[in-house]
Amino acid sequence: MIFLNLSRYGIVLGVLSSVVAVTRPRRQMPKWVLICPKCKTEFEHSQINDVGMFCLMIQEKPEFANTGNECVCPSCGYVALYFRTDLLYRR
Ligand SMILES: [Zn+2]
Repeated sequence: MIFLNLSRYGIVLGVLSSVVAVTRPRRQMPKWVLICPKCKTEFEHSQINDVGMFCLMIQEKPEFANTGNECVCPSCGYVALYFRTDLLYRR
């Protein structure tokens, strides 16, 4: 019985990982992220397109209002004011 459960678990894991591999062929997509000041969760602000990947040095951050942009944390729902300098590069 235990063996059955374990093998079933293994099959589920195998299916899941193959689904992830198929649906996310480009896991290394670079992006700009923000960090929630409340729960410290890192969440995606925007993805960086392929054209910009040729040279990271000239990679422009997305435009932000001078007064900051309000973004909602997808993890805890906290709304905070973010500035362009808060954007972090992740790949
Ligand atoms: Zn949060």
